[in-house]
Amino acid sequence: MSAAPDTQRENQSFAETALRLGGKSDEEVRRTGAMDKADEQVEKLFAERLRTTGSPVHRAVWERTVPLDLFRPPPLPDTAPCDAAMDRSLEVVRRRRDAGTLYDDQGKVSDATIDDLSRAGYWGMLIGTEYGGQGAPFARYARFHTRMSTIEEMVAGMGSVHGCIGAVDPLKTFGTPEQKQRFLPRMASGEARSAFALTEPCAGSDLTALRTTAVEAGDHFEVTGEKLFITHCLPGRTIGLVVMLRGQPAVLIAELPPQETDQFRIVRYKLHALRRGYNNGLLFNKFRVPRENLLTPPQGNGLTIAYHGLNLGRVAVCAGAAGTMRVMLASILPWAGFRRTYGQPIAHRELVKRRIARLAGLIAGADALVAWCSWLIDEGYRGELECIVAKIFGSESLKESAVELLMKTHGGRAFLVGHLFGDNVHDLLAPCIYEGEGEMLGMAFFKSIAKEHGKAFFEPIGRALQEHQMKGLNPKNPAHLWRLRRELWSYGKWKMGQSFTGRDRAPVSGLPAGLQGHVDFARESFARLRTEISAAMAKHQLKLADRQCRMTELSQRAQDTVVLLVTALWAGGQNNETAVAAADILCQDLRRKLTGKRPSDRYFRDVGKLADRILAGGFEALAGVHPSEILMRYESQ
Ligand SMILES: Cc1cc2nc3c(=O)[nH]c(=O)nc-3n(C[C@H](O)[C@H](O)[C@H](O)COP(=O)(O)OP(=O)(O)OC[C@H]3O[C@@H](n4cnc5c(N)ncnc54)[C@H](O)[C@@H]3O)c2cc1C
Repeated sequence: MSAAPDTQRENQSFAETALRLGGKSDEEVRRTGAMDKADEQVEKLFAERLRTTGSPVHRAVWERTVPLDLFRPPPLPDTAPCDAAMDRSLEVVRRRRDAGTLYDDQGKVSDATIDDLSRAGYWGMLIGTEYGGQGAPFARYARFHTRMSTIEEMVAGMGSVHGCIGAVDPLKTFGTPEQKQRFLPRMASGEARSAFALTEPCAGSDLTALRTTAVEAGDHFEVTGEKLFITHCLPGRTIGLVVMLRGQPAVLIAELPPQETDQFRIVRYKLHALRRGYNNGLLFNKFRVPRENLLTPPQGNGLTIAYHGLNLGRVAVCAGAAGTMRVMLASILPWAGFRRTYGQPIAHRELVKRRIARLAGLIAGADALVAWCSWLIDEGYRGELECIVAKIFGSESLKESAVELLMKTHGGRAFLVGHLFGDNVHDLLAPCIYEGEGEMLGMAFFKSIAKEHGKAFFEPIGRALQEHQMKGLNPKNPAHLWRLRRELWSYGKWKMGQSFTGRDRAPVSGLPAGLQGHVDFARESFARLRTEISAAMAKHQLKLADRQCRMTELSQRAQDTVVLLVTALWAGGQNNETAVAAADILCQDLRRKLTGKRPSDRYFRDVGKLADRILAGGFEALAGVHPSEILMRYESQ
């Protein structure tokens, strides 16, 4: 175990302290500590009540009463000034899709489409009107992103890369007035389109391994290094470029030249995903970026900036999934009606109905999470925990829908060129990896939930162990208990308080009994999780960071509980019976997943009824979504 001097100790983050006390190497402590510090710096950008500890999920886990009001976004206003540009943008993509002119001769979204979108105001959606943008609130943008994804997922993705994870959000949030004035009007008009270059060949999950470096050279920085997997990045783009500057991560706004040069080259490789767009590596060799293009956050460093935009991007992943899953359902329905086996359309079969109902449930869940998270962002919350739930649910639902529901229902035709599954399978799976691989994010989610509880009770125990030169705490050893009496008493008091906690059961006004049952279940589940998370921390103490499978398991249960609660409350605000039934099916699925119970016959009947309603055209979520063509048709006898 390496001891740290007192001054160093004061500057240590919780993760550093825990790892150091747990006996980890200096290297691991330093790297993990750097990420934890970046996270703490992001926290400091927000007022106390809007930070992670004030967030709906954190409060639901640790407070006695789940703050239901923070899980129920109000409805969006009927209209907003940005609507006209949204309608124009949707119209451009619809018109070009119908005319067969969306793509160029390489099958990529064409420059002509991009120019039409510029005229429609598409690229300025998330930029303020003072810079020529549409000033769309994020909640409205997220719903629009779902609609765009039902027409062309790649155009939707280009919009969110530009506005959420690209240079727009860093400039809006961290740019000086001069930087905003210099870049944002051109970004709003589409003259400059952006991307975000963070990942490197040696640094993906581990962002402390970044090697691309900027050094001062007069009035410029010279950037040298390599980036990998950068989406929608081509010569001429204006990108958020993460570099190491004076030993710290920093973000530069880099204007890439219109052609490759000796200082800047594109690294081309063949990638299965993003076939309608671009994804490249970037190679820099003393590439010059003006000094005035450095973004300086009020707290922290470049990772603070990167973390900020990623939250928006994560909600956009879920919003995109909500759109693409609609397209999948619209592709399953006509096929299920057409395809007959053993004398019956497969739409009449229970197994196929279950898939239709499940897909509708996943759409309801994704819609609910998007409405909730985007509202929290507009309300000024940091929203890290909530956006992680949305990203994981959206990407995992897309994967499940693609493989378990779409592919299986379409059978062999799923693999034909021209089929939604066969043509797009890599794009349907890739969201599980980009903007953070799901299980890695799940662990980050757990650590954020556990952090304050750890600081309050387990860090003092760890420090006491170190002071008394004890390797661990043996609760059966009276000498151990005596030495740590103060720290253990404090934790014991918290535990005792839990035993006397009453049940949180106030009914939600106007909520039907079935949905109220889901809300009550979620409240009880949060209370159980509170004690289970604390028990896992008590059991594994400073070694918990190594118990990744336990953290992931607890994290998944917490995420499922959040999805259950948000979906049930969302359903309470829906007027469409089919949407409510779809949400109810997802909630039932989640409850069974959380309890391990087998499905009842009544559940199967509910599933069948929901599928029949959807087959009869009763699912409003599919309004305006194009059904896909049935491939390899044949004459019915
Ligand atoms: C289609 C696509 C588009 C992308 N677009 C962009 C973009 O625009 N800009 C950008 O900067 N990046 C982009 N990326 C990169 C993406 O964000 C990274 O691929 C992702 O963060 C994972 O990093 P990696 O691939 O280096 O995984 P690695 O770091 O190689 O990790 C591989 C796997 O190992 C496991 N693992 C790693 N570390 C641990 C650990 N400590 N404990 C347990 N398990 C671990 C995880 O399962 C992880 O997924 C894109 C990627 C793809 C595929």
